[in-house]
Amino acid sequence: MPYQHILVAVDLTEECDPVMHRAHNLAACSGAKFSVVHIVEPMAMAFGGDVPMDLSMLQQQQFDQAHESLNKFAGKYPELSADRRHLAYGQPRQEIHRLAEEQQCDLIVVGSHGRHGLALLLGSTANDLLHGAPCDVLAVRLKKAE
Ligand code: AMP
Repeated sequence: MPYQHILVAVDLTEECDPVMHRAHNLAACSGAKFSVVHIVEPMAMAFGGDVPMDLSMLQQQQFDQAHESLNKFAGKYPELSADRRHLAYGQPRQEIHRLAEEQQCDLIVVGSHGRHGLALLLGSTANDLLHGAPCDVLAVRLKKAE
């Protein structure tokens, strides 16, 4: 059975171009729908938990910027109409799994850095997404910058 609906997860950096490319080609070959998602992570998470100040305005700015970047990013692909562009707030694994289920996606495409050594211990989004995924997950190997 060819895939019906492919969800590509992007961190909105240039590194994601080959991930988008692969997902787009796969969707074209299998005649699947194609959607994109970016998750804005809570700022407090970057500081390791509770922060004794109000981050709500900064957080809103971050969300607005991500919205703009996602539209720019997705604008290169005409089939990514507004309803195929998803922006959510929270923890990437949880939100991407939730969205994949809600949108009845049967493949999630994500970039993978192929970490080694200490970096492995810090974990990766691709690895995290595999656990408890509601559908297949394709990790597209990202090449190291020269
Ligand atoms: P990382 O393991 O965090 O270096 O990210 C590897 C891949 O995970 C990226 O190439 C994206 O496909 C995906 N990813 C990372 N962060 C996010 C995010 N905030 N929202 C959606 N996808 C993400």
